[in-house]
Order: sequence, then C-alpha cells, then structure tokens
Amino acid sequence: MESKKDIDPAGDERARHSEKAFDPVNQLAQTRDLPAEALRRLLGSDQWDAALTAAADRTRRAVYGDEVYLRGLIEFSNVCRNNCYYCGIRAGNQTVSRYRLTEQEILACCAEGYALGFRTFVLQSGEDPAFTDAKICRIVSAIRDRFADCAITLSLGEKSKESYRAYFRAGANRYLLRHETANEAHYRQLHPQTMRLFNRKRCLFDLKEIGYQVGSGFMVGSPYQTTDCLIDDLRFLQALRPEMIGIGPYLPHKATPFAAFPPGSLALTLRLISLLRLLFPYALIPATTALGTLHPQGRELGLKAGANVVMPNLSPVRVRRLYELYENKICTGEEAAQCRGCLARRVAAAGYRVVTAVGNAKKETNAP
Ligand code: SAH
Repeated sequence: MESKKDIDPAGDERARHSEKAFDPVNQLAQTRDLPAEALRRLLGSDQWDAALTAAADRTRRAVYGDEVYLRGLIEFSNVCRNNCYYCGIRAGNQTVSRYRLTEQEILACCAEGYALGFRTFVLQSGEDPAFTDAKICRIVSAIRDRFADCAITLSLGEKSKESYRAYFRAGANRYLLRHETANEAHYRQLHPQTMRLFNRKRCLFDLKEIGYQVGSGFMVGSPYQTTDCLIDDLRFLQALRPEMIGIGPYLPHKATPFAAFPPGSLALTLRLISLLRLLFPYALIPATTALGTLHPQGRELGLKAGANVVMPNLSPVRVRRLYELYENKICTGEEAAQCRGCLARRVAAAGYRVVTAVGNAKKETNAP
C-alpha cells in the first residue's frame, strides 16, 4: 500500500516545517499553557532548557523584579502518625529520636526570626496528635498577638475543615500542603492504603474556601513517577490555582521502604521550576532545601530557573538533624542568624535580592 507521503511529496516538507515551528517555550510564554503532547516533549528533553530558563527569568523579573522573599521555617515536631513510604519521619521509622518543641520554644524561634527580618513564619510538623487543635490555636494566637505584622503559615498535614477553620480564626493566613502526586495509581505506590489522594485534594480545596493562601506541590523523581504523572500534577495545579508551588527532588532515606531508589534529577527539577513560572507567572515558588541538598548550588540554580522564595531554618539547632525527611539535609548545624546571612549572600551572588517583607503573592491583574 502506498503511504500518504509517497503520493504527496509536499507532505514531507510540511512535516519538516511543523517540526521546525515547534517552539514550546514561546507558546508557553504567550499562552501560559501547553497541550499534553507538547508538555511531554518538553519534559523529556534538554533541548529547550536554555530558552526555558531565559523565558522563566524574564517572566519572574516582569512580575516580581529581583525580589526574593524569606520564610522562616520552624519544624516544631517530628512525630507523625502517617507512614508515607518516602519520608524519613514516617511512624514506622523506629530509629529516629522524636522531639516536640514547647510553645515557649516556638515563640522564641519567632522572636529570633523577627529580629533577623523575617515577616513570615512557617510552622511545620508531622501529623502529631499531641498538638491538638486547641494547642495549635493557642500557639497561633500567641504568635498573632506578638507579631501582628507577620504572616503565619501552617504545614501540619491533613485535617478536617473545622480544624482548618479554627486555625484560620486564631490568626493563621497560609497553609502548605503538597499534593505529592495528582495521579491516583502513583499516589497508591507512595502511600499506605489508609491515605487517600481524594482527601488530600479535599483539604486543599477546603483551605482555599476558608480563605487561606495555599501552597501545594510535589516531589520530582519520586519512585515510579512518569512524565504522565507530572502532567497530571501540572493539570491539578491549574485547577487548584495555589498562591505557592513548592517542588523539590525526591531524596532517599535509609530507614524507609524506598531507601534504594535514586534521587530525583537536578535538570528535571529546574526544568519544572521554569515551566511552573511560565504556567503560573504570579506564583511564589521556593528554591527548596531539598534542591540545595541535591546540589551545592541547587538553590541558586532554582532562583535562576524562576524561583523567588527561600525558606531558611529557624528551628533550634539541637533538633534540626532530627527533622530528617531525607538524608544529608543541609543547614542542620547553623544558627538562624548564620542561615539568614548565608542565604542573603547566596541570593545576591545569583543576581537577586532578599527583601524583608511579608511577600504576598501578586494578583493576576496587570499581566506582564
Ligand atoms: N506533615 C506535613 C509536612 C510534611 S514534610 C504534610 O503532610 O504536609 C514536607 C514535605 O517534604 C512533604 O510534603 C514532601 O513533599 C517532602 N518530603 C518528604 N519526604 C521527602 C523525601 N524523602 N525527599 C524529598 N522530599 C520529601
């Protein structure tokens, strides 16, 4: 049988032309979207990386200039009732020594952070039943009273809508909850049966409805992740429209069932940061600690790829090593002030500027 190109010699020429015309970066920058097939090609090749980084940096500078926002991270408990297969502080890991900060210790971290110029505090923990809603509300109110001009971000995992509402009324403004993966089958491969993707998504939409500024995101290169999973992640984020999107490479931890899986790739993480900046020009995108752990210049590369937030650690030095989601976590030995100074220098060396401000996500009004 004759193929179409044998009877239509011009068809070949047209195919070559459309191949040449395939310019996903321009299309992304102009339309803020891409069809699945184009995303698949873009994610699977390094051939557009230079153009992608340049376009992402242009977009980021048009919306946020050279500003980089600080979030002071306080990891107040590593006790967790969940058993996520990738996470070093999973309930089943009996080798980690567990800690909880007291309310006074948490407030002391905030006071130290405030003096260093932090205006956003992120309180993160495992899903620790000892921190009841009443206790969380007391802590949030105390921070709200003492640091009225600060944003309070919580990252405590999955809770009921009533709980989220109570924290919001107590004074919390933001909530970080990565969806981890938006693909149902992949979610099952990363979590035990007791956890449900549906519930995690429910939490995120509840948080938005209550009025929180919401942060979501996923790990890059988590075990069994495919390009189609990543496309599902991007589509989910397009439906959720979060104010912040946090991504970082998966990194192994020896005391988990996934100990033998390799870390996520630096190039793919940076490619995704740029892609996110172009899909979501107004998003706050952190250059994460996991990225800095994967590569000594990881966070700087993340900023150059389109990220505009850094989250130095304000936890007391004695507990930092214990909040071990993955191995070889950086910045576990430094005092808060050292972290602040070190990051400000790194950000400046990358060509950006740390600013002391609450750093709200800009609204999609005057598009660049
Ligand atoms: N209990 C909170 C906080 C979880 S820890 C919650 O459920 O949201 C914060 C994030 O660290 C997780 O959402 C996950 O994306 C990331 N993380 C956990 N284990 C990791 C690993 N091994 N490598 C890289 N990132 C990891």
